[in-house]
Amino acid sequence: MKSISLLGATGSIGLQTLDIVREHADEFEIVAFAAGKNIEKTKDIIREFKPKLVSVQLEKDAYTLSKEFSHIDFTYGTKGLVDVATFSEATVLLNAVLGSIGLEATLAAIREKKAIAIANKETLVTAGHLVMSEAKKYGAPILPVDSEHSALWQSMQGENRKSISRLILTASGGSFRDKTRKELENVTIKEALNHPNWSMGAKITIDSATLMNKGLEVIEAAVLYDMPYDKIDVLIHRESIIHSMVEYHDTSIMAQLGTPDMRTPIQYALSYPERLPRLAAERLDLAKIGQLHFENVDLNRFRCLDFAYQAGKMGGTILTVMNAANEAAVGAFLQGEIKFLEIEDIIEKMMNDHMNIQHPDLETILHVDKETRKTVQSMLK
Ligand code: NDP
Ligand code: MG
Repeated sequence: MKSISLLGATGSIGLQTLDIVREHADEFEIVAFAAGKNIEKTKDIIREFKPKLVSVQLEKDAYTLSKEFSHIDFTYGTKGLVDVATFSEATVLLNAVLGSIGLEATLAAIREKKAIAIANKETLVTAGHLVMSEAKKYGAPILPVDSEHSALWQSMQGENRKSISRLILTASGGSFRDKTRKELENVTIKEALNHPNWSMGAKITIDSATLMNKGLEVIEAAVLYDMPYDKIDVLIHRESIIHSMVEYHDTSIMAQLGTPDMRTPIQYALSYPERLPRLAAERLDLAKIGQLHFENVDLNRFRCLDFAYQAGKMGGTILTVMNAANEAAVGAFLQGEIKFLEIEDIIEKMMNDHMNIQHPDLETILHVDKETRKTVQSMLK
């Protein structure tokens, strides 16, 4: 039995993680979880999974919940995320909270030698060097949940990592893959949220439409697999059937395929090194699909992907700036405060104005993150 603490339990990845725990109740249990502001879902999860510790975003909600569920410990805020991530009875942290707010909890869990199943890619983008060096120091395994990185990982099993010549990340192209830049000027929030293949949270769906999601994933791949940026390629693959590929120096390419269902990579991260059955899941029928398509990405059309390569190659606090500016700009777009293409304008301006600091410590990263969000907010006013 693996005991899991789950951050972001009420979100898209969080709820799909609960599906897997439910499917394999003899293998996994939720001993602690953190939610944000969705208190009705939080109550449902408490009733079904009977955790011992629960965190929510706001103190008042923690107080109200503690009246209703007096046998459970409640905590809240950023400290609450750390409390859940380091809960003594958990051996695995599944981090599916949204945004760089997941960083401190991840580092705290690493120091407690938990296995870290990570969906929370913003943490790896903003402070990948800290996460990986602490994980090495404390011997905490970092297990990817993101489908592309799970595909890369699965395509590396039994191989010598020194034989890898290239990582190929596939990208669906998002909601606007067939639009020209001119057509992108007046797209709506509703159109942007309509992803062709995957059902995901709002922020990552917008990131998919700008291709910033793929940019974050290029950085995530560089961090997780210690690969230089000129050996990480992005390939548009509209069907989202090949989840990513690894090319070896003998020219062989290993790929992982499957229907677009996040529960498979979530389960693999939790069950590794075992592979558990997925009885309820849809199986891939290639004959039915018939054809798979591939094309190169146009970095002039998808500028966010270009920003991510630039930031990744530079390293340092520019990564934090890019990520925080993106989180703030996407938030503003989702509130109807800015147009779609202004997301990239904001990120570009914040990156251009930044004096880069190499090898930042945690305090510097948290400071730069906060300042970047503040500056974006004041720009919007
Ligand atoms: P959602 O928006 O669906 O869920 C986010 C979760 O985080 C919710 O449980 C939310 O709580 C919680 N949360 C948000 N802010 C806070 C906060 N300040 N304090 C505590 N909890 C908070 O996001 P997704 O599930 O789509 O994505 C989560 C992470 O996984 C992201 O990093 C994303 O990039 C990554 N990911 C997602 C994939 C997907 O298919 N969705 C695929 C690959 C990676 P509440 O709702 O209760 O307010
Ligand atoms: Mg992904």
